[in-house]
Amino acid sequence: MTYANIIVDISHEKLDKPFQYRIPEELEGKLLPGMVVEIPFGRGDRLIKGYVIGTTDRAEIAPERIKSIHALSTDGVGVESRLIALAAWIRDYYGATMIQALKTVIPVRKKEKPKEKKQVLLAVSEEEAGERLAFFEKKHQTARYRLLNALLEEGSLPWELVTTKLNIPPAVIRSLENMELLKIQVDTVYRNPVHVKASRQQAVTLNPEQQHVVEGIREEWEKETPRPCLIHGVTGCGKTEIYMELIAGVLKEGKQAIVLIPEIALTYQTVMRFYRRFGERISVMNSRLSPGERFDQYERARKGLIDVMIGPRSALFTPFPNLGIIIQDEEHETSYQSETVPRYLTRETAVKRGELEGAHVVFGTATPSVDAYYKAEKGEYRLFTIRKRVKTAALPEVSIVDLREELKKGNRSVLSNTLKDEMAQCLAAGHQMMLFLNRRGYAGFLSCRSCGQVIECPHCDVSLSLHRGGRLICHYCGYETTVPKTCPSCGSPFLRDFGIGTQQVETVVAREFPEARILRMDLDTTREKDGHEKILSAFANGEADILIGTQMIVKGHDFPNVTLVGILAADLSLHASDFRAAERTFQLLTQAAGRAGRGDLPGRVVIQTYDPEHYSIQAASEQDYEAFYRQEIAFRAIGGYPPAGGMLAIHASSEDEAYLSMAMEYLKKFLDLLESKTGIQVIGPGDETIARIQDVYRKVLYVRHPNENRLTMVKEKVEQYIEMNEGYQKIHIQYERA
Ligand code: ADP
Ligand code: ZN
Ligand code: ZN
Repeated sequence: MTYANIIVDISHEKLDKPFQYRIPEELEGKLLPGMVVEIPFGRGDRLIKGYVIGTTDRAEIAPERIKSIHALSTDGVGVESRLIALAAWIRDYYGATMIQALKTVIPVRKKEKPKEKKQVLLAVSEEEAGERLAFFEKKHQTARYRLLNALLEEGSLPWELVTTKLNIPPAVIRSLENMELLKIQVDTVYRNPVHVKASRQQAVTLNPEQQHVVEGIREEWEKETPRPCLIHGVTGCGKTEIYMELIAGVLKEGKQAIVLIPEIALTYQTVMRFYRRFGERISVMNSRLSPGERFDQYERARKGLIDVMIGPRSALFTPFPNLGIIIQDEEHETSYQSETVPRYLTRETAVKRGELEGAHVVFGTATPSVDAYYKAEKGEYRLFTIRKRVKTAALPEVSIVDLREELKKGNRSVLSNTLKDEMAQCLAAGHQMMLFLNRRGYAGFLSCRSCGQVIECPHCDVSLSLHRGGRLICHYCGYETTVPKTCPSCGSPFLRDFGIGTQQVETVVAREFPEARILRMDLDTTREKDGHEKILSAFANGEADILIGTQMIVKGHDFPNVTLVGILAADLSLHASDFRAAERTFQLLTQAAGRAGRGDLPGRVVIQTYDPEHYSIQAASEQDYEAFYRQEIAFRAIGGYPPAGGMLAIHASSEDEAYLSMAMEYLKKFLDLLESKTGIQVIGPGDETIARIQDVYRKVLYVRHPNENRLTMVKEKVEQYIEMNEGYQKIHIQYERA
């Protein structure tokens, strides 16, 4: 092969194609797809990095114009060639340049120096060492004597120990090395981020429900084209045990497993369980690791030195040599969608990787995303349902409190009388409780009683949140100011705080139950490193009776002594302008309710709401996923929303509002022209839910069509249009598939 096709390491639409380079003699026959090379590029032939995606004998342009590859990159991390195809799919489907897509599938940025372990070893027989020892003693060479004596006893010693504990200067070690009495051996070791100290445990015996699911999934795997499997099972029904059983089978075949979890915060408990079952050959990959740790995990995986990789969405790209299974726990979580370009969805990308590499894919959740459940209904995924918990047979008892009725009775407190009674009983019984506040739209904000003006962030179109000590904080950009004395709009001195934040809830609860011990978990109390873990473990250790918090308290963690969950205002997420608002509400409520009665004690849940008839609240109170799904899918079908129809969102942002509006209008005109040919439906442009963040204006256009391929085609047309029109260079564009 004479030429290599190379993707250059510059993300720009105009450079988003392979460039040809000549393969120099010294690299002939050595260049493989996925390798990183240094190449001269552009004016001045500056050296930049590039990824080889193929080699060929056919020149695309006049051969004399083709430049030569400079060298292999010394610090670049290559792409596993199996993942190049996945990157290409991500690029086409979600919208990105190929270099962005390639970087997405490489979870580490650059090579890191290996960690070294130095050992000092005795290099002569015991007899000879004994003779020399006597000699050193006679000559009063005490440091040499101590070193040789220690080596005679131990055979070998770590370098650190010799220089610190034994206090031997390095020069002395070198001198004995020169006398050939000892050897210094340098080994490279992989950094291991897993620090659990747990003993191995026998696997549990699966109960009949679990066994049934495992058998069903294995039966699916026997088929010619096995489908992804979705386990819909209530929290605590034993899904994790099912995953581990499936993984054990895959490992027996000499293959590896990826286990995806929605949040880094859940790593520890997951790792603990997997360590107990599978021992040392598991690892983690996430953004909290040091660059050295990350690189080493990548290498260990690539070389097949570990069997199971656990981590958030980026762990999906672990370069195992023989991937056997991908498991995505808590399938519905929003953290599985990437927030940066390419905005890939982990579930779809996992299915694609499984397809490309012949690996099985299993999803599990108590509340499947409407999209995934729809696919299961259509038979694209195979569905398994488990309705019973392993331990306590009973699901918690749920009551709904209508806050409008409370208001009529004159109760303006955040705590309804029903909830207060339940709290008193729970405390009297010595149990624990969790009070859950939906942060979005519910943190305290400040408004003027005279003119109604809400105090907003000067850089974002959101209200500032009121914090203790009279500080007003923007949760989007971090802007901070003090509470003004008068209304900035009308000058009235009558400002009052509106709504309520976790801090105010704490104040109210402390007043009602002065003897109760309270912990609060929110942005303020978890700022320090491991802040979450500290609060959760304090609560788990029984150091408090009441845990008050936002979304953060809903996930993971088993608290066997929690018998009461109070949801202070269930409906606040319903009024978001997102077609998934009802789905989010249902998921949040179900997960929050699932926190009650995890141990041997039965649980109770109180949902306070202004909208008690809403189907997502009704269905959540009955823990009835199917009822929710039926209503929701009907609503989606009427609106033409996904999954009933495909949708492509084109997000655009710019600091220049007028320019952005104009550019989006032109884009709409272009889409309107396509409309007649493609049958797409174009909605917008309109403002994003938050129309301005950090002084950047944000607009969105939606394109709908039942056929996903049609949308991919439209996206390509839009990409071309934008590339051709210089005016769009001032605008930042992102695509999103829904
Ligand atoms: P999920 O992942 O569905 O929330 P888990 O796998 O965490 O459920 O199971 C809930 C609890 O029940 C865990 O403490 C787990 O160890 C235990 N458990 C699960 N299956 C069994 C079983 N077959 N026998 C005994 N205990 C089990
Ligand atoms: Zn702001
Ligand atoms: Zn005012």
